[in-house]
Amino acid sequence: MKRLIVVGAGPAGLALALQLAEAGLPVTLLEASHSFSRQFRGDGLMPSGLEALARMGLAQRVEELPQRPIHSWSFWIEGQQLFHVNEPMGALVPCRLVAQQALLEAMLQRALRQPSFRWQAGTPVQELLLRNQRVVGVALADGRRLEAALVVGCDGRRSRLREQAGLALQTEAAELDLLWFQLPAPPRMLEHNSFMTLVAGGSIASAFVGPSGALQLGWVLQPGQSAPAAGSAWAEAFAALAPGWLADHLRAHATQLQGPQRLGVQVGLAPRWQRPGLLLLGDAAHPMSPVRAQGINMALRDSLVAAELLIRAARSSSDGQRLCQALDQACRAIEARRKPEVRAMQRLQRQEARQGHWLSHTALLRQGLVQCRPLAGPLVRRLWMARQRPLREGLADGLPPARLAFTPPT
Ligand SMILES: Cc1cc2nc3c(=O)[nH]c(=O)nc-3n(C[C@H](O)[C@H](O)[C@H](O)COP(=O)(O)OP(=O)(O)OC[C@H]3O[C@@H](n4cnc5c(N)ncnc54)[C@H](O)[C@@H]3O)c2cc1C
Repeated sequence: MKRLIVVGAGPAGLALALQLAEAGLPVTLLEASHSFSRQFRGDGLMPSGLEALARMGLAQRVEELPQRPIHSWSFWIEGQQLFHVNEPMGALVPCRLVAQQALLEAMLQRALRQPSFRWQAGTPVQELLLRNQRVVGVALADGRRLEAALVVGCDGRRSRLREQAGLALQTEAAELDLLWFQLPAPPRMLEHNSFMTLVAGGSIASAFVGPSGALQLGWVLQPGQSAPAAGSAWAEAFAALAPGWLADHLRAHATQLQGPQRLGVQVGLAPRWQRPGLLLLGDAAHPMSPVRAQGINMALRDSLVAAELLIRAARSSSDGQRLCQALDQACRAIEARRKPEVRAMQRLQRQEARQGHWLSHTALLRQGLVQCRPLAGPLVRRLWMARQRPLREGLADGLPPARLAFTPPT
C-alpha cells in the first residue's frame, strides 16, 4: 500500500501517526522543527483528552509522565475570591497539567518501535503535490517530493496545507493576544494548585502551577493593547489583578520572570476539512482558543476518530483507485463525526470569553459582585458550572470503544 503522510508532530499528528503505525499501516510523520523543545502553549488535559489517550492505549504511559493535578478552579475579582470549585467536579479523573513535550516524546518513542513508521524532522513541508485535482503528496523545503495515498495536515493553526489546498478558515472576529510567562511558584500554590482566573480594572488573566512546578501566568491583551514595559512594571501591573499574597510574591520575584512572550491567539473553523487526497485535523481544521484548555483535547479526539475510520478504509481496499476512494470517503465521515463537538466547544469557549470580557470592562458590575460576594458568589458559581461538564468531558460520544480504561487516581 502507498504511504500515508501526516504533516506536523503536535498532539493531533503524533497521536494519529502512532495509531496508524500500530495498526501496521505505512505512515510517514513530517515535522518542521528538529526537536520538541519549544515553549508550549499549554499542558492542560481535560477528562475528554485523557479519555482519548486511554482509548489509544496510553493511559499507563501518561501516568508516568511529569504532571501536576489541578485541585480547584477559583475566580477572583479585584483581588477578592468570588467562588471556587474543587476538582474533579463529578468526573472520574481530575484535569491535569501533563508536560506536553514529554507526552509528544513518549508517543514518538512508541511509534518508532513500529516497522511501518517513518519519522522525518527538521524540514517543513513547502507545498502540496496535485494530480487531476487530487492531492498526491508533498514537496519539502529541501526539494524532496514524497508521494502518498493520503496527506493529513496537522500543521497547526496557521496551517500551510490548509492554505495550499484552498480550504478557507472562518476566523472569529475577536482575536486576542496573550502575554504568557513563568516565574517561581509561591509555596501556597505548590501545595494547593488552583487554576486562578483574575479579573480587575479592565484586565483578565490566569495563574496556575504548571507541570514543571513553575507559576504560569497568562494575561489577555486586546490586539494593539500595549504590554507593560519590561522590568518591574509588568509585576506591578499583574499584581494589581491579584490577591495580596500573590501580589507580594510577584513583586518579590519580578527579576526572575521568564518571558514574557506575546502569543497571537487565532480562533476559527474551516467549513471544509478535506478535499480528495487531503484531510485537516486539530488546529489546522479548527484553531482553538486557550480558554478552558480545549485545543490539545480536541486534537487528540480528532485523531482517535480519524485513526479508526482511516484504518477501516485502508483495510477495505487494496492499492490504487479504490483505496483512494475509500480514504476520501473516510475523510468526509471524519469531518462529519468531529465537527459537532468542535463547534460546541468553540461556542462554550466564546461564552466564557464573552463573560470574562464583560466583567473586566464593567466596573459597576465588578464592584457589585465584590460587595455582595456571599450572595453573588454561589449564583455565579452555579451559572459557570452549568457549562463545565461538556467543556471537561466533551460531547457524548461518537468515539470508538476503549482499548484500556483510565485508572482514576486514588
Ligand atoms: C497560550 C495558549 C495556551 C494553551 N493551553 C492549552 C491547554 O492548556 N490545553 C489545551 O488543550 N490546549 C491549549 N491550547 C491550545 C493548543 O495549544 C492547540 O489547540 C493544540 O496544540 C493543537 O494541536 P495540533 O497538533 O493541532 O497543532 P500544534 O500543536 O500547533 O502542532 C502543529 C505542528 O506542526 C508543525 N508544522 C507546522 N507547519 C509545518 C510544516 N509546514 N511542515 C511540517 N510541520 C509543520 C509544527 O512545528 C508543530 O509541531 C493553548 C493555546 C494557547 C495559544
